[in-house]
Amino acid sequence: MNLEAIAPSPSAVLKASEFLKNRALRTPVLTSPSANALTQAEIFFKCENLQKLGAFKYRGACFAISRLSEDVKGNGVVTFSSGNHAQAIALAASENGIPSVVVMSKSASKLKMEATRNCGAEVVLYDPLTEDREQVAAQIVQTRKMTLIPPYNHPDIIAGQGTAALELFQETGALDYLFVCVGGGGLIAGSALAAQNLSPQCKIIGVEPEVGNDGQRSFEKGEIIKIPIPKTIADGASTQSLGPIPFSIIKSYVNGMITVTDLELLKQMRFFIQHLKLIVEPTGCLAAAGVMSGKIALKGKRVGVIVSGGNVDPEVIASCLSLT
Ligand SMILES: *Cc1c(COP(=O)(O)O)cnc(C)c1O
Repeated sequence: MNLEAIAPSPSAVLKASEFLKNRALRTPVLTSPSANALTQAEIFFKCENLQKLGAFKYRGACFAISRLSEDVKGNGVVTFSSGNHAQAIALAASENGIPSVVVMSKSASKLKMEATRNCGAEVVLYDPLTEDREQVAAQIVQTRKMTLIPPYNHPDIIAGQGTAALELFQETGALDYLFVCVGGGGLIAGSALAAQNLSPQCKIIGVEPEVGNDGQRSFEKGEIIKIPIPKTIADGASTQSLGPIPFSIIKSYVNGMITVTDLELLKQMRFFIQHLKLIVEPTGCLAAAGVMSGKIALKGKRVGVIVSGGNVDPEVIASCLSLT
């Protein structure tokens, strides 16, 4: 399969942005004197934790469903996700008046399961130790004639996710750096394409949990490396490998990949509460924690940060506030 042929182009992000204009929220870009002082840089936080459903995922889901032909759309859509993509597909499907099925790990957070059902999806649970979620979804595609919309390995999903970074550049003008969290790579791939439109010199840096650095290793090796399911509080980035379509874009347009620890994520979560009055989920803290880690010299630079989501269980908020 020729991935370059199906990978979206920078202009696909412009098209997605046009479509999402009155559908997704245009989330705020916030600054923080404390963050600027700590880094001696100018930091711009794109707050997708304030997006519909509390994460950027609505962008890709809404755009991808809009691209289906009417007859295919009517049969509904299926996806696999234990996280924010699940709710995004469920809501976007409901808004289109079509059915949706979400294949979700039975160990997924109860909060996210319930939220997905509330958004209108049928939830099908699977056992991650004995079953493969992609196979479970493929079976539903077969038997129910539904269309699969995977969480990141899909050109329209990538184009949709890129619209958050596009809005950021529209607001700030060109930036020196953009930090983006990395799970399966859809968000960073779309963000990198967005930069090609409005800030082509901007260096794109991916940030992953230290124990789940498959993306970093893949980036350095030039081929996709798969790891066992990593144990990290950054559940949205606990993917085992990058998708081939995002990876083909990452290879061309991403400049570096760094990692942070779970402790750094909890501290970053507390920082967001104290200084920006924002609730950010651990995965959503990755990019900011990468900036604060000092692993990349940023003094005097203009730096964008995608704050990807805010769906976090209250106990985790409590644990970050009780850190000493
Ligand atoms: C899905 C998700 C990510 C990772 O996005 P990918 O496109 O899989 O790299 C990061 N943060 C949040 C909040 C997410 O929901």
